[in-house]
Formats: sequence, C-alpha cells, structure tokens
Amino acid sequence: MPENRVDRPQQTLYGSESDNGLEATVSLWDLDFKLLDSSKRFKEHIGLTPRSEVSLWEAYSALATPALAELVRHVIDTGDPRTIQLADPKRGQRNLLVSRIRVGLLIVETQGADEALSPEDNEKARLIHQATHDVLTGLPNRRQFSAALEQLLPVTGKIGPALMQLDLDDFKPVNDTLGHGAGDMVLKLTAERITKALGRGGTAYRLAGDEFAIIQVGPQRAVEAERLAEALLAEFKKPFTINGISLFVGVSVGIAIAPRDGNEGEQLMKAADVALYAAKKEGRRRARTFDPAMLIVVEQRELLRRSLRVALQLDEFFIEYQPLVEPPSNVVGFEALLRWRHPTLGIIPPAAFIPMAEADGLMREIGQWMLEEACREALAWPEHYTLAVNLSPAEFLTPGLTDRISQTLDVVGFPAERLELEITEGVLLERTINNLDTLNTLNVLGIQISLDDFGTEYSSLSYLKNFPFDTIKIDRYFIRDLLQDSKSQTIVRSVISLAHGLGMRVTAEGVETQQQAAWLQQEGCDRLQGYSISPPLGADKLDDFIRQGARTPSATSFDKFHASP
Ligand code: C2E
Ligand code: CA
Ligand code: CA
Repeated sequence: MPENRVDRPQQTLYGSESDNGLEATVSLWDLDFKLLDSSKRFKEHIGLTPRSEVSLWEAYSALATPALAELVRHVIDTGDPRTIQLADPKRGQRNLLVSRIRVGLLIVETQGADEALSPEDNEKARLIHQATHDVLTGLPNRRQFSAALEQLLPVTGKIGPALMQLDLDDFKPVNDTLGHGAGDMVLKLTAERITKALGRGGTAYRLAGDEFAIIQVGPQRAVEAERLAEALLAEFKKPFTINGISLFVGVSVGIAIAPRDGNEGEQLMKAADVALYAAKKEGRRRARTFDPAMLIVVEQRELLRRSLRVALQLDEFFIEYQPLVEPPSNVVGFEALLRWRHPTLGIIPPAAFIPMAEADGLMREIGQWMLEEACREALAWPEHYTLAVNLSPAEFLTPGLTDRISQTLDVVGFPAERLELEITEGVLLERTINNLDTLNTLNVLGIQISLDDFGTEYSSLSYLKNFPFDTIKIDRYFIRDLLQDSKSQTIVRSVISLAHGLGMRVTAEGVETQQQAAWLQQEGCDRLQGYSISPPLGADKLDDFIRQGARTPSATSFDKFHASP
C-alpha cells in the first residue's frame, strides 16, 4: 500500500505545486542574478537551506561559461526566451527554458528529455507566470510579494531590505468619472513609471487596486530608500494622458526598513502602512519613513474612524452658521459649517474628520444629510437670507450630483436662488469637461457657485475664465496680515478688480478686526465673513442673531456674538 502522505504541499509563490500539477523545477532570479524564489524541487536539487543566498552562477555553474552567459544576457536584453541544454555528469541532460519577466529571469528546468522543451513545458512556464503576475500591469502579484518577504525575512544583520507601500492619490475619481478603461490605463502607466524609477534597485509588485509595493533587495539604509522614493515621486509629477485628457495622479509612499521597523513580513508591512498613512495625512504626494510616534496617531484615528461610521445614525452631527455681510454690516446670508459632537472626545472640527469621511466613502451620505438639514433649517430664516453649503471634492465628483441637489431642494421646498455652493479649486483640476457640465447645470437651476479658499491651491486664472462662478472667496491667509503686509494688500486689491472685471462678487474670509473690515470695504470688497462680524453660531445663538440683526443692522450690534460659542 502506498504511504499516505499527509504533509501539505509547501506554499510558495508557485502555489502548492502538486495542486496545479506543476512539477517543473522553477527558479526566479533578479537582475543581479540572485535567487528571488524557487520551487521546492529546485531547492531540493541544489540543497538550499531556506535562507541561504544563492547566485545563478552557483546554482548553474555551467551558465557562467562565456558563451552561455552571453545567451543569458541576450534573453535579458531582448526578452526572447532561450532554451539551454546542459549535460551534467551526475544528473544527466537538463533543459533550461530561460525567459525574461519583469522582475528578472525565470528558469524552468526539465530533466532527461532529449531535445528542447516541449510545448507542455512552455505551457507550464506560462501558467506559472500567470499565477504569479498581475494580468493588467504584468507586475508580480501579492502572492509573490508575500513569498518574497518570507524569503528575505528575518535578517540577522543590522540592516535588511526596505519595503515601500505605494498608493495612488487621486485614482478613485479617475475610475469613477472617466471609467474603468481609463483607470486601467492609469494603472498600467503607473506600473511603467514605477519600474522606470526602480531601475535595477528593487522589485515592484501590484498588491490590489491602486496599491503597489516595492521591495528594495539587499541591505538598505533609510537614505537609500528615501532616495528611491524621491525618484518615484518625481515620476508622478508629470501628467498622465488618457484619451487625450491630461490628468495628474500623484502617489504617496510609506517606507519601512528591516529589521529596524519589523523583522517579519507582516510587521514590516504594517509599519510601511502606517508610514503611508502619515504621508497621506501630511497632504499626499509625498514619502514618509516609519517612525514609532506615528502609531499613536493611527490608533486615535482608528478610534475616530470607527465612531465616524455610525455618527450619522447616532445623530451626532449638527450645523453652525456663520453670517456673511455686505459691509459694513448688512447680513445677506449664512455659511453652513458641519460639526461633529463625539460622545467622549467632544466637538471635532470638520478639518479633522472630513478627509477621513472622504477616504472612507462616507462623505456623500454626510454631505446629503448636511444639505438637506441646512435647507430645512434655513427655511425658518427671513426669506432674503441665502444659505451657503460647502461641497467637498469627493461629493462634487459623485455622479448624479445635480439631480440629487435639485431633488433635495424640491423635497424640502427651498428655493434654488437662495442656495450657494462653495467649491475649492482642487475639484476642478480633475476632469474639466464634466466639471463644466456640472457647474453649468447648477447655474441653470439658479444655484450660485462660490470658489472657496481662493489663492491657496492652484489658482489658475483659466478657471476664472472657463467656469461660471458667481463669487470668489479670498482665503483668510491673505486677510490675516492685510494691514501689516503690503503684498497681501496688493493681492487682495488685484483679486477684487479681477473678479469685478469678470462680473463676479468677492467675499473676504477670516475678517478678524474692524480695521480689516474697514480696509476691505474701502477697496470695494462685496462681502465679509469672519470673527469680527460673528463666529459660526449654533441654533440658539443664530435665532438671537437674526432677531437682533434684523432690528439694528449695525456692526456694533453684533459685538455680543463675538465671544466664542
Ligand atoms: P471654509 O469653507 O473655509 O470655512 C471657513 C472656516 O473658517 C470655518 O472653519 C470657520 O469657522 C473659520 N472661520 C470663520 N471666521 C474666521 C475668522 O475670522 N478667523 C479664523 N481664523 N477662522 C475663521 P471650520 O468650521 O472649522 O471649517 C473648516 C473647513 O471645513 C471649511 O473651511 C470647509 O472647507 C470644511 N467644511 C465645513 N463644513 C463643511 C461641510 O458641511 N461640508 C464640506 N464638504 N466641508 C465643510
Ligand atoms: Ca467655505
Ligand atoms: Ca474658505
């Protein structure tokens, strides 16, 4: 009776070999001819211990002869696979199918056969390649990534390989708005750019969606890894041209180095992930190297993230309203500002949770709640007051936005003419044609559009020419030092005249003193917003403000509202 084998086939990057019937001896080499991975049979043949480093020339010493080494070079340079026959006194005739794949060389060895590799062997090699590579980009896949990490770690020395996690910054909007075909193009081009930046300095993998990873083989110091990351970032400064449209898709990079940041695959990945998150949080399109201090922030963030998911159901959001005045003090409307009252952490400012909500795909729902609730509350105001609502980029880019807004206005019974939507320039960068459509549709509905935070982002004047804005809101950055800095004065003056020349209104944000207000009034600024008029107001204070403001419309009558809420 045959012995019943119970040991499971070893999981390697080639899968459980007996599972898929692949019994070939397979080895994978990087371009420095170091062994990256191999099948179990290969290891048995050359008597490898799991961690020992082996070069191609050690494993196949015959290949080191000038003629055969030349042939190997030829495969690398041209990508043409070659079959090499070796006559081995101990092991008989062997055939090596040597082919170039993205990470290096793939060698499939068959034994004993008289001539070249059979079509079946070629098919085996093809299947192996398929199982270990991502079809779209041709990069090795996650499975191969895990196997490579397992192979390389743990290290015994002080420095080991560097791991980089990469994540595209603006991939989702591309996929959502230009379609999957365009998304696929971006991913393919991304793989090419990564490979280009890498040169021979490491191996790139596609882990999932728009997530990639790089393993920098050989001992790495942080500076070397960071230098590579800089080269990567530089590759992504150029636009991608997809179907004739230019788009900028950035990349964020998290770096972790073994054994310092982790000497096991999973640990090192977690560290790189944390670093990636830090890079995203610091404004994306940058690289960060793991630092244990980053962990604290992540844990707090995980806590917040979990409670954010249920905040809407638990009714934890509320809205404050900040008045907008025509100088000196004629109230024209209010900007709705979202607030989150966390059960234990207290009030959390929108800048802290909106980016998180966007990243987790929650912003559409929260934004919808916000719009509906603000419109309902504004119905109770005197009819000549307008309501301004902010739209985050993720909301603006969701399909069906205009329908959703007009439906909401219908359901609530709030007139479109009283609604103003505030968007930032960042939104307009991404897909020009549809943006223009969206803005035009909103315009036709009678809704006003304000360009928020003007002067802080890209501030391309072409936006002003091409998009139908009603109002430009000058960012508070220019207002803050208005009276001390003549450059800010020049900028604000120019923006006012530019806007007026284009038939647009100007609102100054962050007006904190009466002097700033007076200067802005004198320069012809149409509207003011800021603590000197009033901070954002909760429901009760808003009622008082409206009653008070309606009776005595003078700047000083608002003084009592200056105290912080
Ligand atoms: P923003 O649209 O520029 O809103 C104005 C911010 O400036 C508000 O901060 C407001 O409280 C603050 N502010 C008002 N007057 C002054 C002043 O005189 N001096 C200073 N230093 N600050 C002043 P807040 O409420 O923390 O909002 C921050 C940002 O969060 C907003 O910037 C907006 O981009 C976003 N946001 C707020 N609510 C929403 C919302 O419902 N949806 C979306 N998508 N974004 C929102
Ligand atoms: Ca705003
Ligand atoms: Ca603003």
